[in-house]
Amino acid sequence: MKLKIMEVKLIAFVLLQAVTVRSQVNPEMCRYPLGMTGGQIQDEDISASSHWSESTAARFGRLDFDNGDGDGAWCPDIMSEPDGLKEYLQVDLRSLHFITLVGTQGRHADGMGNEFAQRYRIKYSRDGSSWVGWHDRKGRQIIEGNSNAYDVVLKDLEPPIIARFVRFMPVTDHSMIVCMRVELYGCEWLDGLMSYSIPDGHQMIYRGLDVFFNDSVYDGASAERSELTKGLGQLTDGTWGLDDFLHSHSYNFWPGYDYVGWNNRSFPRGYVEMIFEFDHVRNFSSMKVHCNNMFSRGVRMFRQVTCYFRSGSEWEADPVTFRPAVDRVSQSARFITVPLGDRTASTIKCRFHFSDLWMLFSEVAFQSGSAVYNTSMAPRDDPTHKVDDSNTRILIGCLVAIIAILLAIIVIILWRQVWQKMLEKASRRMLDDELTARLAIQTRAFSFHHSSLSSESGSTSNSTYERIFPLCADYQEPSRLIRKLPEFSQSTERLGKLSKGNKAFAAGGSDGAPHYAEADIISLQESSDNSIYSITAVNMNFFAGTDSSMREFPRQKLTFKEKLGEGQFGEVHLCEAEGMQDFLGEDLSIEGNNESPLLVAVKTLREDANKNARNDFLKEIRIMSRLRDPNIVRLLAVCVDTDPLCMITEYMENGDLNQFLSHPMYFLCLSYTTLIGMAVQIASGMKYLSSLNFVHRDLATRNCLVGKKYTIKIADFGMSRNLYRGGYYRIQGRAVLPIRWMSWESILLGKFTMASDVWAFGVTLWEILTLCKEQPYSQLSDEQVIENTGEFFREQGKQVYLPKPPCCPDRIYKDLMLSCWRRNAKQRPSFQEIHAQLLESLA
Ligand code: AMP
Repeated sequence: MKLKIMEVKLIAFVLLQAVTVRSQVNPEMCRYPLGMTGGQIQDEDISASSHWSESTAARFGRLDFDNGDGDGAWCPDIMSEPDGLKEYLQVDLRSLHFITLVGTQGRHADGMGNEFAQRYRIKYSRDGSSWVGWHDRKGRQIIEGNSNAYDVVLKDLEPPIIARFVRFMPVTDHSMIVCMRVELYGCEWLDGLMSYSIPDGHQMIYRGLDVFFNDSVYDGASAERSELTKGLGQLTDGTWGLDDFLHSHSYNFWPGYDYVGWNNRSFPRGYVEMIFEFDHVRNFSSMKVHCNNMFSRGVRMFRQVTCYFRSGSEWEADPVTFRPAVDRVSQSARFITVPLGDRTASTIKCRFHFSDLWMLFSEVAFQSGSAVYNTSMAPRDDPTHKVDDSNTRILIGCLVAIIAILLAIIVIILWRQVWQKMLEKASRRMLDDELTARLAIQTRAFSFHHSSLSSESGSTSNSTYERIFPLCADYQEPSRLIRKLPEFSQSTERLGKLSKGNKAFAAGGSDGAPHYAEADIISLQESSDNSIYSITAVNMNFFAGTDSSMREFPRQKLTFKEKLGEGQFGEVHLCEAEGMQDFLGEDLSIEGNNESPLLVAVKTLREDANKNARNDFLKEIRIMSRLRDPNIVRLLAVCVDTDPLCMITEYMENGDLNQFLSHPMYFLCLSYTTLIGMAVQIASGMKYLSSLNFVHRDLATRNCLVGKKYTIKIADFGMSRNLYRGGYYRIQGRAVLPIRWMSWESILLGKFTMASDVWAFGVTLWEILTLCKEQPYSQLSDEQVIENTGEFFREQGKQVYLPKPPCCPDRIYKDLMLSCWRRNAKQRPSFQEIHAQLLESLA
C-alpha cells in the first residue's frame, strides 16, 4: 500500500520535530512507570535503612500488579529501632526524573500477611547528598497510603518532584509491622536543570486584593526570604499560568499562585537576575520562558534578556542577548523562546529586563543537545563519568522513540486506510458478500425460500455464518485502552486482587463516586451484582420468564428477498412473510405497512454461535417481546423450534439512521425541523424505555432504524441483554464497547443507568445534527477518548465536549446537548424533559 505524499511529509515533519525540538515537560503525559514493576530499576538501585528479615529486603519492595501472590515486600525493622520514623526504602533512578505519581501496596502473602503502610512521607534528592522532604501545595507532608494489604493506591504528586533519588518513609506508631511495595511514575527530566537561584517573588496589591507572586513550592534554601538558592520550584513544576494572573489552575489557592513575579521598583538596575545550574555541561539551543503579558494591569513580558555561560569556574565574556518582539495587542500569556546559539555551559546566568512595572514568569525550560564531555572537568573517579552513560542512554532512548513514532505513524495510517475502507458505507454490502464468499461454504438446512437463488436451483441457502463478526470502529475495548494509562492501569490490573478481597469497588471521592484510580472496571463488568444497574426487581420480573405471546412462525412461509445487513449474531434478511397478518390476528397496515405478503426483517443467529451467544439471542427476544411502543422496533414472531434461531421484526425500509443521514442524497433535502423531528421520536422511544427502568446501553444513530416518512424506531437491544449476565458481551473474549457514546461513569466505573443513556442520547443528537458526517471526537484517538473521560471525572475544566453542530441553535446545544454530558448524572435531564424540550423547540 502506497503512503500518500502528504502523509510521508507528515512523518518527515514529525521526525524533524522529534529530533530538533524537545519541548518542556508535560505533566499530564509524563506518567510512565519508572521500572520498579517492570524491572528496569535494578536490585542494586533499591536500598533501605533496615529490613525485618532477608525475605523482606529492599529489593522486594517492587509494586506488583501481575504476580498477585503479594508475598514479597520491603518490611523495615521498625520494632528494634528507637525512632522508626527514620526508616526508608530508597530508589536510585540513575538520572534526574520528573516524578508525577507514586503507587504503594502492602503485603498479603495470599492471606498469610496483613502488613501495609497507612501513611508515609517522601524525601528526595537530586545529588544524593542533600535531601528535601516533599510536601503538597498546602504544606502537608504525610501521604495517606494503603488501607489493606491488597490494593494499589496511587497518589498524584502535586507539585511533582524532580529528583534522582526517592525515599519512601512509612509513618507508624510502632503498633504494627509495616511493609511496602512501591512504584514511581514520571519521565526523564531532559532539561537537566539541578537548581535555579532567583530573588523571591513580590506581593502586588491589585484593587485592594493581595496578590502573591512568591515561589511557594521552592525546595532549596531561602536567605531571609528574599534570595532563593539551590532549589527548584514553580518555574519547573510543569504548570503554566493563565492569561489572567489573578486566577490559578486550582481554585483553592491565592491570587497570583501560578506565577513568580517581581516589581520593577525593587530592582534599580532594571533587571532580575537568575542563575540556572545543570547536571553537567550541555549544548544549549534555546530557553523557553512562560510570561504573563496583561499590560492593562502593568504586567509585560521582558524587554530583553542577556544570558552568560559558564562551563568551569569563570563566566565567558560574550553573552547572548535577545529582544522579543513587543506585543501591544494580545494580553495572552505565552512561551517566549530565547535562542541560546548552541552555547556550551553547565551554569547559565540570565538577566531579564523589565518593560513595565511587573514581570511574571510561570515556567522556564531549556533545550539542550547531548552533553559535552570535558576531560579537564572529569577525572576518572569523578561522578561526572556517569554523564556519558546517561547521555548514551538519552541518545539511544531518542532513537528508539523516533523509530517507535515512525512505526506508530505507519501503523495508524495503515489502520485508518483499512478501517476507512471497511467503514465505507457504500461498499458495506460488497464487503459482506466478499467475506461470505471467501469463508468456508457449508451447506446447511435453512428453509427460507430464496426467491432469486434457491428457487431456481432448488437448493437451500448455503450461507455459512462461520465468519467472525468484524469489529466496527464504533466499538472499542476500554479495559485495553485504560490499561495503557498509568493512572487507570491499576484499576484493571488489580482484578485478581480485588476478586480475592471479594470487593466490587472502593468508594473514595467526596461525591461518593469512587476515585477513578480505585474503580475496577473488569470486576464491575463481571460483577453479578445487578444493583449497579438501575433496573428494579419489579422490572427484572417484567423482562424475565418466557413470553407466551411470542409465537413460533412457520419458517417455510418466509421467502428470502435480500440481505439487509449484518450484526454480531449473524445476518439480517429482508423476507416476505406469507400470512403474517392472519398469524398475528392484527391489521399491520395500521403500523404503516401495506405490503402483502408482509415484508419483514429476519435476524438469524449464525450456526456456529456458541452457547452464550445463543442464550443472549434468546434473551434479546425475551426483552423485545415485551416492548411495545411506536418508536421501538417491534418483534413480530420468532422461529426458535429448530435451528437457525430467527427473530422476525417489522421491516424499516430506509435502514439504519446513520447510513440514512450520511447518504449524500439527503444532504440538502433534510431540514432542521425534520432532523429534530427524528430526535423527538428517539426521545419518545427512550421515554418509554425509561418508564420501564430499562437501560438500552447502546443508543446511537447506527442502532435506530428509519421507516417511511422519516419514522424512527430504536432497535438493537444487544447490549441491554447484558443486564442479565452482569457482564459485557464479549467478542472472542473481548469486551467491546461504544466508548465515544458512553458516559464517563460507564467507561470508568462500569455503571450503566438511565442517565448514561441520556449521555448517549446527547451524542446521538449531535450525530443527527451533523448528519453523521464524522464519528464523535473524530480528531481524538481511542486512547485520547479515554483520557478525555478521565478529564470529565476530574472536572478541572480540561474535558473536551463535542462541538456545536453548524446548524444547531445555541439553546439546543447549551441547554440540551451539554446538559446530557453533565458530570453529575443526577443533574442530567430525564427523557421526559428532553422530549418536552425538543417538542417545545419545534413549536
Ligand atoms: P443489527 O444486527 O440489528 O445490528 O442489524 C444489522 C443491520 O441490518 C442494521 O444496521 C440495518 O442496516 C439492518 N437491519 C436490521 N434490522 C432491520 C430492520 N428491521 N429493517 C431494516 N433493516 C434492518
